[in-house]
Amino acid sequence: MQNRYLEYFNESPSLFIKFKSNSNKIEYITNNVTTLLDYTLDEVLDSSFSFENIIHKGDYKVIKKELEELNSSNEIELSPYRVLTKNSNYIWVKEIRKKFYDNKTNENHICSYISNITKEINLKKNLFYTNKIIKTVYDNSVHLIALLKPNGTLIKANKTALEFINKDEKEIINKKFWDTNWWDESQKQIIKKDIKKASKGNLVHSEKKVFDEYYIELTIKPVYDENRVIYLVCEGKDITQAKKKEKRINHYNEIINKQLISITNKEGVIKECSDAFCELTGYDKNELVGKKHNILKHSNNSDEKYKDLWETITLNKTWKGKLKNKTKDGRAFWVENIITPNCDENGNIESYTAIYNNITRNKKIKEKLITDELTNIYNRRYFNKIFKKYYKRFQKYDENFVLMIIDIDYFKQYNDNYGHLKGDEVLKDVAQTLKLNLRKCDYVFRIGGEEFAILISINKHNVSKIIANKLKEAIYNLNITHEFSFYKRLTISIGVKQVNKKPLLKNKIEIFNDADKALYKAKQNGRNRVFTFLDT
Ligand code: GH3
Ligand code: MG
Ligand code: MG
Repeated sequence: MQNRYLEYFNESPSLFIKFKSNSNKIEYITNNVTTLLDYTLDEVLDSSFSFENIIHKGDYKVIKKELEELNSSNEIELSPYRVLTKNSNYIWVKEIRKKFYDNKTNENHICSYISNITKEINLKKNLFYTNKIIKTVYDNSVHLIALLKPNGTLIKANKTALEFINKDEKEIINKKFWDTNWWDESQKQIIKKDIKKASKGNLVHSEKKVFDEYYIELTIKPVYDENRVIYLVCEGKDITQAKKKEKRINHYNEIINKQLISITNKEGVIKECSDAFCELTGYDKNELVGKKHNILKHSNNSDEKYKDLWETITLNKTWKGKLKNKTKDGRAFWVENIITPNCDENGNIESYTAIYNNITRNKKIKEKLITDELTNIYNRRYFNKIFKKYYKRFQKYDENFVLMIIDIDYFKQYNDNYGHLKGDEVLKDVAQTLKLNLRKCDYVFRIGGEEFAILISINKHNVSKIIANKLKEAIYNLNITHEFSFYKRLTISIGVKQVNKKPLLKNKIEIFNDADKALYKAKQNGRNRVFTFLDT
């Protein structure tokens, strides 16, 4: 019989100990001491082994006091304490100590039932810390948190939520969530619907505007117990500032999009541009982004201007200037540019921002003022201006130039015989031919009925004659029939005046007259020729 009990004890998770009377020495212990404390039976039964010694010092004080109670009672349950295993691990145990009287020996015995509760204790500890963390998060969350029953009754609200409405928890507890001060009248029905949805197990997410001034991002999450929704957790995020920021950014974007703006990378590839810029250029944004800015470049701009632009901005300076551009369908437009480099944190240029002012209208008016209506080349008014500029530049900087005056030969006869309209066509042809045979930087003007002037800045003295002859030949080669001319075709005569000698004793009128005199000579010498005025 006794053996059967022993068997039972040996297999039980509880350790059974019988102490020698009035001591901590062990008289009997079950086999499972090895499983629990890593000691062998022999080790614990040895007279040198004392159970008291393997109890954690910090816990022993309490235990010792509790053990004294055994004097007055037969059984005590000790507070959980730690014992050191042979492998130097502390485990938590629960002990019931009993005193009983052995009739045979007439002695009192002390017995113990010890169970390992380490797992339980650790679980409790974890739960304790988890609860603590949750409470800290709940109390200090910047979000508004409220706990509801599935029917919408408020159970709890955190500090942030209460501060938002300036209320105490007890003032709102047990109220329906939609009747609380977080919501104004217009929101109530919507909240009620949201709660109903969430109580059916849906996660409800929405943005609410409250009191006409705050924005709340509200999430209602159902909490389940098995298959049943038992709570609803409402979390409100105050997104008022973010909303305000978003509105401000949208507002700025709107303003920016109304301006003419483009941003390019270091290589001039467009990264971003405004709506107004797209509208002006006739391109869609996706047609511009990724393309080089020079797809807008008009061929009329001088290369020097672009050289100056790039030299300036690559030196991390702002460039200001006017440029002629062309739209997607080839129409010209003029812009005044301010191009500013943008640097990264190390001061290296990262991109360029260009702000434009559309000056096409102004340019068109100005262009009209300086353009001859019939031939579309510059007019007399512009000739006066540029002539004055060239004259000044020569005086100041010694920049040589050449003035040519060109007159169509026998043009009266041409008109008289072929009609004025045909005459007009010839004037246009002559103007375009002269222009085509000169450089971009040279000027051609129509200064009178069938008279043209040319201004060329020049370094070498003799090339003027070559240029003039080239022009004369070009008109000759147009091969415009003129039966009433000596040459049977349309020709021109050219008077050339080089301005390249200092001191310059002549004024502008005198220089013009010299060119005119040279023209007269060319006419006198038989027309279809070039004559250069030579200073004596
Ligand atoms: P020359 O060889 O000496 O230059 O003889 P010309 O006949 O060309 O000279 P003149 O000055 O006598 O004639 C100029 C003519 O140019 C007069 C007019 O019929 C013509 N003319 C002037 N302006 C216009 C114009 O706008 N359109 C046309 N079709 N003809 C013009
Ligand atoms: Mg004339
Ligand atoms: Mg003439």
